[in-house]
Amino acid sequence: MKINRRDFSILAGGWVVGLSGLVVRPAPVLANPTPFYTAHVYPGSPITLSEKALRAHGEMVIALTFDDGPDPTNDTEILRLLAQYHAVATFFVIGNKAVNHLDLLKTMVSAGCEIGNHSWSHPMLTRLNADAQAAEMRQTNEVLAGAGIKVNWLRPPYGDYDRQTRAIATAESMETILWSIDPSDWKSPPAETIAKRITRDLAPGAVVLMHSIRAHSVEALPRILDFAAENHYRFVTLSEWKQIMLRVSSPTS
Ligand SMILES: [Zn+2]
Repeated sequence: MKINRRDFSILAGGWVVGLSGLVVRPAPVLANPTPFYTAHVYPGSPITLSEKALRAHGEMVIALTFDDGPDPTNDTEILRLLAQYHAVATFFVIGNKAVNHLDLLKTMVSAGCEIGNHSWSHPMLTRLNADAQAAEMRQTNEVLAGAGIKVNWLRPPYGDYDRQTRAIATAESMETILWSIDPSDWKSPPAETIAKRITRDLAPGAVVLMHSIRAHSVEALPRILDFAAENHYRFVTLSEWKQIMLRVSSPTS
């Protein structure tokens, strides 16, 4: 993979060595690592994420993702806005909340959106032993499966994972996915700031991290959707994103 100057700063500034000194994992908060750095966005993937390849193939795709829900009020508004712009997103839900809002999740799926696993109780997964990590993932998947929802992706809370986390996710039939654009909306900046941070770094293939539980993020959404429409982007679920990435990416470049 070709590493450009911006990637180097990500490597230098965005990655930390685990306490054991053996595990390298992304820092929980990584500011706008675009253009893509595959090992960050899609750890362990055999494909190379490439904005250039996507542009060359005319695939102006963006995967919007909303973590920490479900949040009935905000998610309902998010779904309304997405429908208005003919857009879809992926919702990374916390199992112990999801269990109370399965109808909302079914509505998301009916709207063409995807549901991902954001653990059962939002812990730092690497602080748990293997059994506890597996339980965090499995319990959520079981609740979702009970509602007829198949889960393909794990987004570890805080972006905190290691090789063991990934191996357990794989055993639970999920791939681990992070993001390429983080507007730090969890700090509740104004909607305008959130929209600006996202539109500034938007590129084909971007995976945008937002949070269902942040009202300012919902408020920012129309500006993001407007900007994307003006710039000929289209929105896809993460599973659609992966299919497109596989199609346009060369595994060896
Ligand atoms: Zn979270």
